[in-house]
Amino acid sequence: SRADVLRRIDELVRLVPDYPKPGVMFRDITPLLADAAAFAAVIAEIAARVDGPVDLVAGMEARGFLIAAPVAVALGAGVLPVRKAGKLPGPTAAESYDLEYGTATIEIHPATVPAGARVLVIDDVLATGGTAAATVALLERCGAHVVGLSFLVELEALGGRERLAGHPVDVLVAVP
Ligand code: AMP
Repeated sequence: SRADVLRRIDELVRLVPDYPKPGVMFRDITPLLADAAAFAAVIAEIAARVDGPVDLVAGMEARGFLIAAPVAVALGAGVLPVRKAGKLPGPTAAESYDLEYGTATIEIHPATVPAGARVLVIDDVLATGGTAAATVALLERCGAHVVGLSFLVELEALGGRERLAGHPVDVLVAVP
């Protein structure tokens, strides 16, 4: 059941204080990935909650890949890797966004995004929403229609959802 899936996420997402730096409570999904039944249930739950047809599931490097690929198979969609700069041979389309210190750049292969493609965006954790907002901007600039975004965990205090205004955001577990 849905309640069982949420309980398994609570049990299998490990909390790591002060990683990768002091003050951050890191959500480690590797125990969840390693549990065959729980992982399958989470993928099925994410896929079941998607509203309407999806052509491509975009996964954000790197943990987003691990969720996006099985969700895509479950939905009968393709996968779109959203990569850190310099990893794709190109031609690429890029989007830069601000981090706490400095900037980051993400890239996709726009040739794999047909005009009007219906794209679902996936990552493990919604934190500030900077990465997800940049992904939405990049996809829309490439002519895609972002049908929604799905995350395992939302860190509500960081306000990421506000940066994704206008797009349906679905999370399995919201942490205050
Ligand atoms: P964001 O601040 O939403 O752009 O998050 C940046 C990236 O770091 C995303 O891929 C998140 O999944 C990941 N991330 C941010 N905060 C955490 C956290 N506390 N635990 C695990 N992953 C995180």
